Amino acid sequence: MIDIKSMTIEEIEAALTAMGEPSFRGKQVFTWLHKGVKSFDEMTNLPKALREKLQSDYFIRVPEVACKQVSQLDGTIKYLWKLTDGSCIETVLMQYHHGNTVCISSQVGCRMGCAFCASTLGGKVRDLVSSELLDQVLFTEIDSGLPISNIVLMGIGEPMDNLDNVLRFLTLVNHEAGLHIGMRHISLSTCGVVPGIDRLGELGLQLTLSVSLHAPDNETRNRIMPVNRAYDVDTLFAACHRYFERTGRRISFEYAMIDGVNDSDAQADLIAKKVRGMPAHLNLIPLNQVRESPFQPSRRIASFQKRLERHGLTVTVRRSLGGDIDASCGQLRRRMMEKQDGRDVR
Ligand code: SAH
Repeated sequence: MIDIKSMTIEEIEAALTAMGEPSFRGKQVFTWLHKGVKSFDEMTNLPKALREKLQSDYFIRVPEVACKQVSQLDGTIKYLWKLTDGSCIETVLMQYHHGNTVCISSQVGCRMGCAFCASTLGGKVRDLVSSELLDQVLFTEIDSGLPISNIVLMGIGEPMDNLDNVLRFLTLVNHEAGLHIGMRHISLSTCGVVPGIDRLGELGLQLTLSVSLHAPDNETRNRIMPVNRAYDVDTLFAACHRYFERTGRRISFEYAMIDGVNDSDAQADLIAKKVRGMPAHLNLIPLNQVRESPFQPSRRIASFQKRLERHGLTVTVRRSLGGDIDASCGQLRRRMMEKQDGRDVR
């Protein structure tokens, strides 16, 4: 049995032609899949015999809503999806003036081990396949009734650790016969997996690359982000410079402000030095406190921002949405896992 929703339109067309069907059927099937049908029977413009044939060779995966939280403050919606194998993943829908943005997960869990992050606490369970990436966008739109215009790959998981499925997903979600979301409306965030940055750069896509920097010096970065021991700060910045040269796209750096760890003036100065020579956007994130972690939110965000701005950098501070729900990465899934383990929650 084959997961048909992970197939590109060309692959579906080829499979149908091989069955002796006209190639226009490929687009029909693709369009139905990207409307969120749950069975081949719903594809009413296909002959019954073809629907039965498809049914015997292919399956259509559909996630279930395991939990849904809606913020009373700003309308942010958080979904916990139960996948066909019982795994759970999170998706967040945020309503901004410039459009509705969906933040999707790329893996079930994460193996990157960042010390401040809730998503990585239980390790990685498995990669998501392309249809599971797509379904987060598709079923969030269907369930919420809100049209989605932007996608950020900033949920649970490391996209560069599942890059084949992520790239295939980008082709699917970008297609005009499907959701047709433009590359300029998509951001992909990495903790700094250099071979992935290079591979993406070679494709020259117009999406926005976000790099989770969180520290500009190896001593601090090694401590809070194990990936730095494989690709250190200078190796990472060299890759960022190559990426900019290849794509011409400005990189966005994420920086979660942690009290006494990465919020010194010297660190602000070092950031400015490292990004010199390429247009960069610094996004300062007020640290979300994770119960299992010793880190505290920084109290120096405003002065850190000013210091960076004095170096001529573009700096924003991320506005926190969904403060009354478990909207930060990994926290809802974590609570659910704890419940299943029978451990005490809240
Ligand atoms: N693995 C990718 C994408 C997922 S994380 C990456 O690392 O970029 C999305 C962003 O949230 C990353 O910048 C991550 O470092 C940040 N983040 C994780 N835990 C956080 C916390 N407790 N507070 C603030 N930001 C956090």
